[in-house]
Amino acid sequence: MDSDFFTISVEELKGIGPYYLKRLTKLGIKTIRDLLWHFPVRYEDYSDLKKISEIKTEGICSALGKIEKISTRKAFRKRLFITEAVLYDKTGTIDIVWFGQPYLKRTIPEGAIVIVSGKVQKKDNKLFFNNPVYEVIYRSAPASVSEEEIDFSQLKHTAGLIPVYPETRGLTSRGIRFLIKPLMEKAKKLPEFLPEPVLKNAGLMDYKKAIKQAHFPDSLELAEQAKKRFVFEEIFLTQLLLLELRQKNALLKAPQIPIDIDFVKQILKTLSFELTESQKKALWRIIRDLARKYPMNRLLNGDVGSGKTIVALISLACAVKAGFQGVFMVPTEILSYQHFQTAGKLLKDFGIDICLLISKEARIVSGELEGELKKSALKKIIQEAKPVLVIGTQALIQKDVDFVNLGLVVVDEQHRFGVRQRQQLLVNNESRIKNNEHNKSIIHNSPFLIPHLLTMTATPIPRTLALGLWGDLDVSFIAELPKGRKKIITKIISQKQREQMYQFIREKVKAGEQVFIICPRIEKPEDQEFSYEKYLRLDTKAVKEEYEKLSKEIFPDLKLDILHGKLKSREKELVMKKFSGKEVDILVSTSVIEVGIDVPNATIMVIEGADYFGLAQLHQFRGRVGRGEKQSYCFLLTESESKAARQRLSAFSKIFDGFKLAEQDLKLRGPGQFFGVRQSGIPDLATKALKDFSLVLLAREQAEAVLQGSPRLEKYPRLKQELENFRQRVHLE
Ligand code: ADP
Ligand code: MG
Repeated sequence: MDSDFFTISVEELKGIGPYYLKRLTKLGIKTIRDLLWHFPVRYEDYSDLKKISEIKTEGICSALGKIEKISTRKAFRKRLFITEAVLYDKTGTIDIVWFGQPYLKRTIPEGAIVIVSGKVQKKDNKLFFNNPVYEVIYRSAPASVSEEEIDFSQLKHTAGLIPVYPETRGLTSRGIRFLIKPLMEKAKKLPEFLPEPVLKNAGLMDYKKAIKQAHFPDSLELAEQAKKRFVFEEIFLTQLLLLELRQKNALLKAPQIPIDIDFVKQILKTLSFELTESQKKALWRIIRDLARKYPMNRLLNGDVGSGKTIVALISLACAVKAGFQGVFMVPTEILSYQHFQTAGKLLKDFGIDICLLISKEARIVSGELEGELKKSALKKIIQEAKPVLVIGTQALIQKDVDFVNLGLVVVDEQHRFGVRQRQQLLVNNESRIKNNEHNKSIIHNSPFLIPHLLTMTATPIPRTLALGLWGDLDVSFIAELPKGRKKIITKIISQKQREQMYQFIREKVKAGEQVFIICPRIEKPEDQEFSYEKYLRLDTKAVKEEYEKLSKEIFPDLKLDILHGKLKSREKELVMKKFSGKEVDILVSTSVIEVGIDVPNATIMVIEGADYFGLAQLHQFRGRVGRGEKQSYCFLLTESESKAARQRLSAFSKIFDGFKLAEQDLKLRGPGQFFGVRQSGIPDLATKALKDFSLVLLAREQAEAVLQGSPRLEKYPRLKQELENFRQRVHLE
């Protein structure tokens, strides 16, 4: 028996035709392994086998007996089939009622010996089994069969703890049990792949026992232990993959960027503020990483407004100062423009060429190359290996530019940058090293050097998740906000208070402060074919209407402007420029404003239709204000009557810590949704377990220990094989 058994398609199993195949596919089950790893969500307890005379009260139990009578009829008026039977044993009889299963008369003929398990209820003072599960032991019985003669371990559906599986229409738990039960014997013979010490140290059940106990447990406690083993297994394999990536990374060569403390100090001196402790620590770690022989692979995780940009810009400046190219990739053009401006201000006296690269044109501030130029001209500059700092959207930089002398890449606001994409990046680089090929992937360099990589995200990632998802990265957390920030007063505003809110806004604007008003697309797209284009259009429509109303009826005396995804990049840029230059009082916008925008003079954030957004996104919006020292406000408007929506918003108005909110969202929506985990290639079971910090830590620890003793897993051939399979699965998902 070898592990090939696992990879056999379920098609090969007896009794699986197109009908079941289709439904299994729906459940994501393709191979025998998938089937065996399709674990129950819960168990029903039918362990209480009684003689019929012993059944005296309502409750759950099982009984063994002979079917004396069975008949099916249609319920009055409804199109529901009712099957009624009488079960007999030597001590008495009891009625059974089944609903909606007209075929039962065929599967349980009169005279059959069966075990039924389920709820006993009372009607008209008479006890009966209400829709029990059943198992036919003999279709036509020998005269008497006693309890002792029945091998209970062979029973799938009745007696003991019955697994209840994730089901799909047309394939119930009963059907799934039918498929899984016969595999048990074979499955148990498969070898354990977790190393002995791991099992021991983590206190896990071994495979043979666990596969049985997970599906057909002897007790709920054993079922729990079995499940823990399988959850651990996935996290452990994930950690092995991540650690392996890390090992591989350490073998790559990167451009070494020498540490120039004086240069950093000079920049810091020009700032109007002092870096926070976390910022200093993160910056120092990065600078140290850049000086190493192998590429940095670091995630900078700090709450909204914690000041990640400055850390990134100084790091990039170091790379350019040392003669390399630096790249700052951001998700939106608005943001690239903003970073371009910030960089210009920050570095203007340090002789660094800073380029903005957006759709058609490019621009350079400061340094000898200053001025406007065509994209092609910038490309040339880059190809001549000139040390420049290029800021632009990811799409643009990835597609259009071949860097030849790249030292550091920073990716801003990139919480969806999963394991797989990063792995892809590495793989691409590797193949380039092998083929000495030019011209394929994002990062173009001298063929033997891999640039350093810094990813930044404001999506607060609980440490568990960081370790689970980004365990191959080093992570720096920026734990605190800059000094002097005030708590943003957050309020749910009822429709009655709307007027009052507008009055408040007017006063603040008169006092020189600025306001964002976010409106989501209120109506949902009607048609099925949902596209990003359509989404933008609807978004735009809603925001235009709101803008019209606000500027004509509510604030005719104030300066308003509008921002949405349909504007050309130049137009967007102009709007943002006017807003940060205080030429505009109120900016009405779609959610394009969400990430990164930094206008410290803005103090009020109004969010229309607040219930349309997730907590993390609301937190991003709120983070657009409260960036200076003035008191800031966030007003939430909603027309939703839903209690859950109100509770969510109410929680949001009280929690200000992004990490806590993330945890809340994690609880409410699960990690997959929230972080796009699916994309990152982490299997389901493990994402569930990411909520269990201790198990992740344990898996991490054990994976490290195993690799320490056997870096290529040569001591553990089975584990190695399983890891290969796992890698395939993760890749294929
Ligand atoms: P985020 O981490 O959300 O990207 P930013 O980098 O945009 O935050 O920084 C938010 C604001 O805080 C910016 O205006 C920035 O100049 C300012 N800032 C950054 N670090 C500090 C600091 N140590 N003290 C005071 N203000 C700071
Ligand atoms: Mg930012």
